[in-house]
Amino acid sequence: MKRNRGGCDIPEATIGRLPLYLEKLKLLQAIGVEDVSSRQLAESLDIKASQLRHDFHYFGGFSRPGRPYQVQKLVTALEQIIGIDRPVPSAIVGAGHLGQALANYQNLDLQGFPLRGIFDINPKLVGLEIRGQPIRDLDELEPVCAREKVKIGIITVPASAAQAIANRLVASGVIGLFNFAPTDLKVPPTVAVRNERITVGIMSLSFKVKCLAAAGEAVAADPD
Ligand code: ATP
Repeated sequence: MKRNRGGCDIPEATIGRLPLYLEKLKLLQAIGVEDVSSRQLAESLDIKASQLRHDFHYFGGFSRPGRPYQVQKLVTALEQIIGIDRPVPSAIVGAGHLGQALANYQNLDLQGFPLRGIFDINPKLVGLEIRGQPIRDLDELEPVCAREKVKIGIITVPASAAQAIANRLVASGVIGLFNFAPTDLKVPPTVAVRNERITVGIMSLSFKVKCLAAAGEAVAADPD
């Protein structure tokens, strides 16, 4: 089992599934389910039970063979593994339409990422409040990030400004960048970046929509 560097060398695909397991388990918890088998949990996520057990094996397995998982214990363990058993202070840079939408998205706080700062360079935006927080001038980025121990920076500035913002966030102690700017960022190996390209996502969907529409037209043209 590979578990060096605090689990940082776990496969990306496994890491990507951890929040999905947690989300599903929390739903089960909310309806009072206490135990769940690997097969039930895997089926609810449309994956194989062997895949799920393989993922969990990286973290010690969580149950004895043949026994179901205890939902409560597994939720707690996954929250610790993901790193949200305590709040992860976050900040948004770029309070345009997208930045404001994310600042208004209460679920980020609820899932463990309290917003500790919103920054912009536009004087017309600076001073406006979103959910009780002022949009601050970019000059305040470093002192606020240091004071609030911000660990995740959410970048919603234009692509041309993103690298400079990333550099400033990293210099302020931020070690995770959630990058919505349509550009790649250069960061030190001690910093993690997650790129969210909304238009790329919808274009991939468009490809599938086009294929489905074409298949539907073919069936309509030749129902036999
Ligand atoms: P969105 O793309 O989110 O809809 P928008 O169309 O209003 O926003 P963009 O040009 O994409 O505007 O910029 C997003 C926000 O980033 C704007 O509010 C802008 O003022 C801000 N911004 C631009 N450059 C910087 C920078 N260097 N630092 C901080 N904020 C910036």
